[in-house]
Amino acid sequence: MTFITLRDVSGISQVIVKGELNENVEEINRQSAVMIKGIVQETKARDFSFEIKAEEIEVLAKAIHPLPVDPIGRVESNIDTRLNHRALDMRNQKTASIFKLRHHVLETLRNTLSQKKFIEITTPKIIGSASEGGADLFSLDYFGKTAYLAQSPQLYKEQMTLGLERVYEISNFYRAEKSHTGRHLSEFTSVDIEAAFLDYNDVMDILETLILEVYKHTSEKCKKEQEVIGHTIEIPSSPFERITYNQVIEELKQNGEKIEFGDDLLDSHLRMIGEKHAGFFFLTDWPMKLKPFYIREKDEDPLLSRSFDLQYGYLELSSGGTRLHNTDILKSRLKEQGLDPAQFADHLQTFDWGMPPHSGWGLGLDRLMTTLIGIDNVREVVLYPRDPDRLKP
Ligand code: ATP
Ligand code: MN
Repeated sequence: MTFITLRDVSGISQVIVKGELNENVEEINRQSAVMIKGIVQETKARDFSFEIKAEEIEVLAKAIHPLPVDPIGRVESNIDTRLNHRALDMRNQKTASIFKLRHHVLETLRNTLSQKKFIEITTPKIIGSASEGGADLFSLDYFGKTAYLAQSPQLYKEQMTLGLERVYEISNFYRAEKSHTGRHLSEFTSVDIEAAFLDYNDVMDILETLILEVYKHTSEKCKKEQEVIGHTIEIPSSPFERITYNQVIEELKQNGEKIEFGDDLLDSHLRMIGEKHAGFFFLTDWPMKLKPFYIREKDEDPLLSRSFDLQYGYLELSSGGTRLHNTDILKSRLKEQGLDPAQFADHLQTFDWGMPPHSGWGLGLDRLMTTLIGIDNVREVVLYPRDPDRLKP
């Protein structure tokens, strides 16, 4: 008698092979693809609720051993080896569970945004001019012209609020930054929203709701995955703390840091702040000069902006804010930041067509996944990550 452990989309079961059929079994290697017909019957095995008594066995595809990684996970492989053989690594139930969780996260984001009347859009990834200034862009030859890979859907999503009012996009975007960290990739998945007639506090509320929904939904619906990964999803406490940039500067000064209003927060600063404010919090009201040209100033203090980052400890998950919607101010802000308004003519003209005031944010999906699963490398939650050293497979 032979026992086979068999897996399909519905789970794992045990197959009992008796008599002559055992000859077929000898040629089946671990990890082969098979077709088995048989009778479902009660089992004495503790790990299964039923077993299958085989009547017919066919090998559809044999796995050739030795395999480059062990999908059972008994022999641990390092991340590079696993990424080099990702398809086989996906047979490891720990890896598969991460991507099942990712599916449920996407499902929750789409359902929740749909309920809030957001329309899903898809903006171009091949673009003719840099959307937010020149740095960090991949360029490519486009029939003899230079084109770029989009860093974000920023300008297009803003334009779409004119006709659709509330839009969202979940797509990959590209950053040519030579970073070697656990949180930067050259290609990452961004969740973006943009909404007319809402301000930055409104879109912060939406972001907070979405994060909570993602945690609640996956915590309830993905019990098995949590068990396999060995991590329990804890629903974060809410409301998330909202701390201003000025408060952060004060806290850093109290810690003995030499920092002034207008200085950008370094990684070391964020780690200090992240220790004091663990978990999710918003960091709001950044100085205008640290924010992109499209961010709107505060009425009561034009040096400050209506902007925010969502942090998870030291880790930045999202940036957003209220946008400028006055063409003249947009033009002068572009010039202030050393950008040429003529390069943005296609974008700026839409602001003369009755552009409503609007706000939005971009959220790094891969980074969000790392918080949910409690790991610190985005490469674990991306199928085929791209970084300066990794272009294949
Ligand atoms: P960082 O300062 O961490 O490099 P950023 O401020 O340049 O991020 P934004 O332009 O604000 O990033 O993009 C919005 C969000 O997209 C970020 O908060 C982050 O979650 C995600 N993101 C940006 N760049 C990357 C990247 N290279 N890899 C993975 N996620 C990214
Ligand atoms: Mn940012």
